[in-house]
Amino acid sequence: MVDVWEDLLRYLEFLKRIGVNTLPARKNIRRFLDLDFTPPPKSLAEIEEEIKNCTRCKLHRTRKNIVLGEGPETARLMFIGEAPGKDEDLEGRPFVGRAGQLLDQMLNTVGINRSEVYITNVVKCRPPGNRTPQPDEIEACLPYLTKQIKLIRPAIICTLGRVAAQTVLATTSDLGSLRGKIHELDDIKVLVTYHPAYLLRNNSQKSAAFEDLKLLKKLYGDLCKIS
Ligand code: URA
Repeated sequence: MVDVWEDLLRYLEFLKRIGVNTLPARKNIRRFLDLDFTPPPKSLAEIEEEIKNCTRCKLHRTRKNIVLGEGPETARLMFIGEAPGKDEDLEGRPFVGRAGQLLDQMLNTVGINRSEVYITNVVKCRPPGNRTPQPDEIEACLPYLTKQIKLIRPAIICTLGRVAAQTVLATTSDLGSLRGKIHELDDIKVLVTYHPAYLLRNNSQKSAAFEDLKLLKKLYGDLCKIS
């Protein structure tokens, strides 16, 4: 596998030398591939080692802990949120605060256990005051997410909230128009739903989120469960 990446890298360097700077590809694939042509990491520990002293963006100045992610390397389902909040920053684990409790409940509702899924965020350090991550912070952190996706190769990604949906799908479409459908990222199915923190503030969207979860459960059953 590593040989393939090395060959591909050499080929791309050759194309660059002869003046080929762009290649046709679907937009969402291109975004992930563009950012990282290095071979996929061998383990999560390798990504942890790389990120542990990260200063790629200004969030490193105010963080207490980097929150890389949590869950098995072999997970078939990956959840991607926005960025760590206060509790996550203190503990160094994703979705451990109130939003995390709601996420656990949402998973339980559809019979999925948190221990079987991988959970991460677009941005791995807490934005001060839990503000929305800024474009330069998202861009700086994206190579880590790309590596996590390349390593885990989940069958399904479920994005939580607008920032995660727009980042993963490389789109500016609003969340309302992205949810309720199955998107594709390379050969990974991508589902979009509301962020649990948003649902805590907007009770009225819970039934729509439940519809998303039912779709997720069906897809998870079809693609990931060995009966
Ligand atoms: N919100 C997120 O997007 N991620 C977390 O880990 C916690 C809250």
